Amino acid sequence: MKALLDPHVPLEPIVQPLLQQRFPGASHERLLAFLRAYYLENEYAADLDELGAYEIVTVVAKKTKERDYLVGGYDRLLASLAQGLDVRLGTVALRVRHGASGVTVETSRGTFAASKLVVTLPVGVLRSGALEFEPALPEEKQAAIAQIGVGDFEKVVMLFDEAFWPATPHGFGFASTASGTLPLWLNVQAVADTPALVAMSSGHVARELSAMSDHAVAERAVAQMRAMFGAASKGPRAILRTRWHDDPFARGAYSYPGPHDLDAAISALASPVDGRLLFAGEATDRAWYSFAHGAYLSGVRAANEA
Ligand SMILES: Cc1cc2nc3c(=O)[nH]c(=O)nc-3n(C[C@H](O)[C@H](O)[C@H](O)COP(=O)(O)OP(=O)(O)OC[C@H]3O[C@@H](n4cnc5c(N)ncnc54)[C@H](O)[C@@H]3O)c2cc1C
Repeated sequence: MKALLDPHVPLEPIVQPLLQQRFPGASHERLLAFLRAYYLENEYAADLDELGAYEIVTVVAKKTKERDYLVGGYDRLLASLAQGLDVRLGTVALRVRHGASGVTVETSRGTFAASKLVVTLPVGVLRSGALEFEPALPEEKQAAIAQIGVGDFEKVVMLFDEAFWPATPHGFGFASTASGTLPLWLNVQAVADTPALVAMSSGHVARELSAMSDHAVAERAVAQMRAMFGAASKGPRAILRTRWHDDPFARGAYSYPGPHDLDAAISALASPVDGRLLFAGEATDRAWYSFAHGAYLSGVRAANEA
């Protein structure tokens, strides 16, 4: 895990076994065996059954620090980037017409014309067909939109009357083999002096939670809190959940490498169409896909192309 964060670790040994996934018959057991050897046994120079669990499972608490939070919300960053720009919120793009004479975008609040357009919609939204292109996007781009993995990652924010958990670690990890548990927790109390916890989930657990009521999610979270912090743990006063998977303007969290050639798919998605349609967004950045800074850098790249 530490190796993952270290830019000096050569990527070749990581990439080779991942490439095997693309070939039929490659087994996930082999991949897991490699990842275990690479990230755990080689990292700590010991066999897995020799390693003390405490050090391994506290990695979340140790690596999560104040600098990982944007207290007050991410939109503070966007507000400063948007200064001086004409941003129209609440304007849903419905249809893009592009050709030799330029580009028009039909929206829920009128039609806009331009010589060039930068499309930054999430892959999940492009895949849903909510935005129509006339003429249709080239086949290679459509294939890329179908191939890039769209992940699910949801957060459950719980506000309590008072904090009953330790004040200092900025995050907690919940190690369990039981299915459906929330493995990662952020301690808001440690950074914003608010008695709140954020529980995170990904993949099928995130999708499973999305289908559950707030009450059922809170019950599951409280059961885990009791296991972590003792019987005194109370239920939350208020609960707030993300629903990126069901959000028609997100359709998921961010891109991930599936069984296809992600590098080629990202290049195909990022490439301009007739020099008029340009594409940006996290899933168009080969180095930093899935990250906010990947989205930012891709926007700079598309602006330069324009
Ligand atoms: C739970 C979660 C945790 C994350 N944690 C981190 C992290 O710790 N660090 C990090 O770097 N990144 C993180 N990310 C990823 C980061 O948020 C994304 O990579 C980044 O926001 C992508 O930016 P984007 O501009 O490509 O897409 P988005 O931010 O998704 O922007 C796309 C915009 O298009 C709009 N839109 C969609 N459809 C239409 C339409 N038809 N008409 C008009 N507008 C439309 C949407 O409303 C949205 O505003 C996280 C993401 C999630 C979901």
